[in-house]
Amino acid sequence: MKIRLTFTFAILIFILSSCSFGSLNLKDKPFETEDFLMGTVITQRVYGSNAGIAAKEATARMKAIEQLMTINAPGGDINRLNEAAGKNAVVLSPETINLLATAKEYAQMSGGAFDVTIGPLVKAWGVFTDNPRVPPIEEIQRLKKLTDYKKLMIDAVNLTAKLEIPGQIVDVGGIAKGYAGDEVIKIYKKLGIKSAYVNLGGNVVVLGTKSDGKPWRIGIQNPRAENGIYLGIVSVTDKAVVTSGDYERFFEKDGVRYHHILDPKTGYPSDSGLISATIVTDVSMDADALSTSVFVLGLEKGMALIESLKGVEAILVTEDKEVYATEGIKSSFTFSDESKEFKYAEKR
Ligand code: AMP
Ligand code: MG
Repeated sequence: MKIRLTFTFAILIFILSSCSFGSLNLKDKPFETEDFLMGTVITQRVYGSNAGIAAKEATARMKAIEQLMTINAPGGDINRLNEAAGKNAVVLSPETINLLATAKEYAQMSGGAFDVTIGPLVKAWGVFTDNPRVPPIEEIQRLKKLTDYKKLMIDAVNLTAKLEIPGQIVDVGGIAKGYAGDEVIKIYKKLGIKSAYVNLGGNVVVLGTKSDGKPWRIGIQNPRAENGIYLGIVSVTDKAVVTSGDYERFFEKDGVRYHHILDPKTGYPSDSGLISATIVTDVSMDADALSTSVFVLGLEKGMALIESLKGVEAILVTEDKEVYATEGIKSSFTFSDESKEFKYAEKR
């Protein structure tokens, strides 16, 4: 009898412990998915019982945003706005109006370094196409005149927008992935997710901590090494970590690198001395607009802009291979450069 009881007890313990292992595994194992959307690879890693549903809903939401915001989708908001340039105002969805209004705010804040009416120049350079080219100077001078965010009129009450000059093109490539990141986090939260990571081609947003309760560790890409080789790690909880870099999209001609972030003042790829700008803040849309802004502004002006904003931190990399971090991020940033080519400038 005693032996049988001990045996039953042992089995019970075994079942209980395997149950708890089972649920632990379930909780610790993320639902992972990869999509090609918004012109980039998007990775989601979501923990919790609703993880699969949340990730799928997030993917559907990103697809919808892409339809609305891409230059190329006929019938999408941005496409309709561009088609009506110089002609009439168009009615847009509240989210597009909100995104455009935010884009205009950052245009003002950055003194025009960030400008979503950069479209004609982006098209002329064709960095994203199979036939990129260096446009003739006359063409650049002509198209530069179309890049003017002050000629993008927004009526937030009637939900309309208008491009004043014929030929103007809005390109929200510098802010839309950031916006999508915020929308993904909203979906996760709605479905009770407490821990998740989404990476929209260099725009990372994390919800909560990792499943083990520790902060997420996000690698800062070495701009001159292959993908996945880092210059350091930032440890963050509930944050967006967004990078703009000259290594993300570029072509080379006669030994010169022509990348995808253009300086509206020159019409050429930005040559501010920065080769990468990472912004760490709460809202991913802000981080995205700021990463592009700071990249174009350069080290001094970029740092001044970041330091004027509350709750915004930055890690900037110069072409001289120096790495700068704002005071507020230093304790969460570990510099570790395997290549030994970069120098961490602890003081500025
Ligand atoms: P990001 O990678 O966020 O810095 O955004 C770069 C993308 O934004 C480019 O691929 C263009 O579509 C667009 N873009 C390029 N230059 C600018 C600029 N100066 N201001 C706003 N958007 C830009
Ligand atoms: Mg950006």
